Amino acid sequence: MSQFSQFFLMKPEDVKRYVVEVIHYFAPDEQTDCVEIGDGNINYVFQVRSRTSGRSVIVKQADKLLRSSGRPLDIYRNKIEAETLKLESSLAPGFIPQVFYYDETMAALSMEDISAYKNLRKELAADRVYGHLSENLSTFLAESLLPTTDLVMDRKEKKDRVKFFTNPELCDITEDLVLTEPYEDYKGRNIITPGNEAFVRTFLYEDQDLRAQVGLLRSNFMNNAQALIHGDLHSGSIFANENGIKVIDPEFAFYGPMGYDIGNVIGNLFFAWANKAFTKTGDPAAPGALERTIRETCDLTAAKLAEQYDRLVKFPLYRTEGFRRAYLDGVMADAYGYAGTEIIRRVVGDSKVMEVTSVQDTAQRLAMERALIKLGIWLIKERERGLTGGTVTAAFCMILA
Ligand code: ADP
Ligand code: MG
Repeated sequence: MSQFSQFFLMKPEDVKRYVVEVIHYFAPDEQTDCVEIGDGNINYVFQVRSRTSGRSVIVKQADKLLRSSGRPLDIYRNKIEAETLKLESSLAPGFIPQVFYYDETMAALSMEDISAYKNLRKELAADRVYGHLSENLSTFLAESLLPTTDLVMDRKEKKDRVKFFTNPELCDITEDLVLTEPYEDYKGRNIITPGNEAFVRTFLYEDQDLRAQVGLLRSNFMNNAQALIHGDLHSGSIFANENGIKVIDPEFAFYGPMGYDIGNVIGNLFFAWANKAFTKTGDPAAPGALERTIRETCDLTAAKLAEQYDRLVKFPLYRTEGFRRAYLDGVMADAYGYAGTEIIRRVVGDSKVMEVTSVQDTAQRLAMERALIKLGIWLIKERERGLTGGTVTAAFCMILA
């Protein structure tokens, strides 16, 4: 009986044997090194590399207990991640690491090593705002999302997928941390920077109109099984270099509103811009490049979704201009709304981003947080007014002025 026929949490030495015995990636006599490279707080990511050929492979293992807090989390998420990666790479080839093997027993996913690409959050912080980003982000979004809807897919098959991708424990995290607690701190987990308590109380906890709008976005997230979405498409799930982008880590995937993924991408791009606008460090050309990237990502995504729609949707009622316009406008309205909720939760929630926490100067940090919160509120409240890349970047310029 193989050592790997029953689940256990692997150590680097185990993974070296695993990639030989189970996935046959290396010959048994090949000299390899294995390091754990995970920087997330959920799973374990191992890289095994040959000392002679330099070939390498990634093994991502999910544990039953969360790495950070030790609390239990359903390992079915690893299966969802593997299936989502496979589906996304069939729809949007070139944007996803190739999956070599998914091992249900070990809750381990073996895949292509994409370390030639770097964490986009860190690349943007280092002023590497690649000119291709808006093209690639918008192409990935349009190609990975619209074809999974029942405007395009067989409706029975789509319902089977909704069942398979039902992901209650990971959705629960989003429903609380993103779509509830920043406005209703019922678990007492928000972390407000001292000095901004009154601002947060007035503009997030006590604004009944905002709370109603967030309620609508939350209910839409929970009930609109529109498309297979990545579910956690922040700039640390996107890797980039001068040649393009790769998307990893879809363990939050489920059938939800497409705008949630689009909004996460847009929202996270704003953190890079905001950080540079307030700290005034780094390449002076970077804020402009980020502004352009955001503007183009919004508009190219809307345009490419419309192109995909016209190419793929055949059902006569859905081809009427009235339905088509309402559907596509609805997706972008969701996108701007969820960009707003993402921006706000990363400022006041307990899962912050480096672009916010790295600001050392207290006055800069407080002002930057307020600007981001204002932008988030504006996006949520204005989302249905036909926003474009130009109107949202102009809104942030007004807030900065
Ligand atoms: P978690 O689910 O724990 O957040 P991630 O999937 O985000 O784990 O992976 C954590 C880190 O491991 C990534 O930030 C990246 O540095 C590295 N990593 C994950 N998958 C790959 C891959 N296919 N190729 C190269 N590095 C990877
Ligand atoms: Mg992750």
